[in-house]
Amino acid sequence: MNHTGPIPRWEAPTRQDVGHTVEEFLRILGGPTFLWLPGLDTTRTRAVSTLLHGNEPSGVRAIHRWIREGHQPQVNVLCFIGNVEAALTDPVFSHRSIPGGQDLNRCFRSPFEGPEGIIAQAMLEELYRIQPEALIDIHNTSGRSPAYGVATQNGVMQESLTGIFSDHLVVTDLRLGTLMEATETAWPTVTIEAGGTADPKAHELAYRGFSRYALAKDFSELSYPVTVTHHPIRVELKKGASMAYASAPMPEVDLTLPQDVDRLNFGTLSTHERLGWVGSRGLDVLGAINAAGENLTSTLFSVRHGELMLARPSRLMMVTTNPDIARSDCLFYILPHV
Ligand SMILES: [Zn+2]
Repeated sequence: MNHTGPIPRWEAPTRQDVGHTVEEFLRILGGPTFLWLPGLDTTRTRAVSTLLHGNEPSGVRAIHRWIREGHQPQVNVLCFIGNVEAALTDPVFSHRSIPGGQDLNRCFRSPFEGPEGIIAQAMLEELYRIQPEALIDIHNTSGRSPAYGVATQNGVMQESLTGIFSDHLVVTDLRLGTLMEATETAWPTVTIEAGGTADPKAHELAYRGFSRYALAKDFSELSYPVTVTHHPIRVELKKGASMAYASAPMPEVDLTLPQDVDRLNFGTLSTHERLGWVGSRGLDVLGAINAAGENLTSTLFSVRHGELMLARPSRLMMVTTNPDIARSDCLFYILPHV
């Protein structure tokens, strides 16, 4: 491995080098790493990022399997394996970030502080040096979900890149410090949410998508029809509010969601769908913030006899059943039907 900056770069790893299991592979890497997979055509490069969240294994599994199977990509592929340390923190693949650390996929903007900020900045420097044709950042949803793409720009290329994996693209105007925001104008970039973290179908989808991306001569080969929706609103639990997952309202908490609330992911829901229950503070414990910073809680939700309902038909996405993520990041995103 070549250690010139804070992120080592591994040239042309072979199947003998990468361990038998993905866990072995991560132990060999030991930390954030670039892998350089030389293409048949060495004049062009595509980039893939994954494991920015240590509990989202589908992308790194796909890359490990690809190398184990001994394939060669059509063009060079630069792979970035991000939060190896979080992934290896016991139990393996259960930590989004290193305990006490920052969320790496919120650090791709200045001031690039702390260990995660330094990694994010070094990663961007390498990408800008390489100038890839495109960048795909592979994630998993923390609850069960169909796969979809997310982009900050809507164009033919973003739809083509999404279509390699899924038939749905969400174009977001929210700005959180994610990788795709930092490269959106430099080259086509999409985030792929491959499906739930523990879902073998998500691993297979990530692998097949990675293969298509790596083997295509041109992106024009990769045109699949994609439905596009715009501007999800992020729904957070306000600071100091409490929440729990249970099958009936918990009297001592501000928000109770059913343990299987992730079954609501991506379906279109009517105003008769009960999302959960709120306590005596009602909707005050929720923040539903759009890109302009407006709180839309009271226009999106209503409360009937303590039951949390939608005020208009909507689609939910990124619904988590992980209480740590629900408290520290967000509960879900909502796409109201207009
Ligand atoms: Zn993620």
